[in-house]
Amino acid sequence: MEGKDYMNIFVLNCGSSSLKFQLINIENEEVIANGLVEKISESISDFKYYTKNKVELEIKMEIPDHKNAIQLVLERLISSEHGVINDFDDIDIVGHRVVHAGEKFSGSVLITKEVINALKENIKLAPLHNPANIVGIEASKKLMPNTPDVGIFDTAFHQSMPKESYLYALPYQWYQENGVRRYGFHGTSHKYVTERGAELLKKDYDSLKIISCHLGNGASIAAVDQGRVIDTSMGFTPLEGLVMGTRPGDFDPGIISYIMQERNLSIEEIDEILNKESGVLALSGISNDFREISEAAEAGNDRAQLALDIFCRRVKKYIGAYAALLGGVDLLIFTAGIGENAVNIRAKILAELEYFGIIIDPEKNNIQGKEAKISAKTSIVDVYVIPTNEELVIAREAKKVIEQEIETIIKDILK
Ligand code: ADP
Repeated sequence: MEGKDYMNIFVLNCGSSSLKFQLINIENEEVIANGLVEKISESISDFKYYTKNKVELEIKMEIPDHKNAIQLVLERLISSEHGVINDFDDIDIVGHRVVHAGEKFSGSVLITKEVINALKENIKLAPLHNPANIVGIEASKKLMPNTPDVGIFDTAFHQSMPKESYLYALPYQWYQENGVRRYGFHGTSHKYVTERGAELLKKDYDSLKIISCHLGNGASIAAVDQGRVIDTSMGFTPLEGLVMGTRPGDFDPGIISYIMQERNLSIEEIDEILNKESGVLALSGISNDFREISEAAEAGNDRAQLALDIFCRRVKKYIGAYAALLGGVDLLIFTAGIGENAVNIRAKILAELEYFGIIIDPEKNNIQGKEAKISAKTSIVDVYVIPTNEELVIAREAKKVIEQEIETIIKDILK
């Protein structure tokens, strides 16, 4: 790394059948290349690859697993035709998004064998997400054995939550012996937008009371007081809290045993229904995509309208609850696919919140996908749209971890 005026960080975000990547020069935070592979292990996978030199490739081919997908991306990055780096040595660090770190890690870490084992132990806490993250880490270690890997965890930012927020009123042994507690997710996104919000307000992050609404296909909301998360809506799993694309958010857990008996459902079936077949998809009967639901609602479809109403009502309810917990709000932030783009949904959530000091400016709210203040001059609370940038947080964290590791090694040598 020494002697170079750049440090390239390869950010990897592996989902169960997809991977997203970015190669970022962390010195100037420029994205050198990015893209995604979708439908991994299906008969035809989609590979999209873009570079700062305006290369845009879309390839459909069979990609059997994540290792092959990563290999394909790396080959592109160094290829003479479309490449942006000379060889793998130009990748200094790999930063991996990992969904669930349990209580083990409250910050990002250099990935060692012990860390991988700890993540494997957490598979039972995040069976839908952690296995793909681990596959990504192991593949990258095989393909780039000399490059350090850093894990950045979705749960880490929320580890500052107090016990009053993260404990459920369930048998205490469930927490002590089985790890049942609220963990929270989307931590990297909440961290990025809240820090960015403080920058935009030109105020000290540690002085602000912030509510951050990450409204994407998965959705969560977090209350951040003086830089620390004091509550968040996702819980032990990403099922809790807001209504989502295909997840129900909060509902009476008594329904589970009742409906499993009534409809003769297995554990796997109920799990699948709660994760993939509920939420606005179930309510609207149309789609989990808010664009399609909004179109249908405008065309007069009652269930589509109902899905939007229920979604917005839940977000509003949480904003009220978090305003109470925070004892006031300085800044309210909208981010992710819906938060950044759905003008109508933001307007609906924020309607009639004057009592809370929140007044939206309809003209300013008429924006999509860019940073903007959308509250009226008379609003006590500043309301912003801030596009999330989880990859940049991952790259920044990866750099920080490696710098700290190097510092520790030097200190040890000088002892
Ligand atoms: P995730 O990362 O959880 O898959 P995203 O943050 O990418 O989610 O958000 C995806 C969702 O954002 C889509 O399902 C869609 O409902 C919503 N979305 C994207 N663009 C718009 C838009 N212009 N209007 C309304 N909703 C949108």
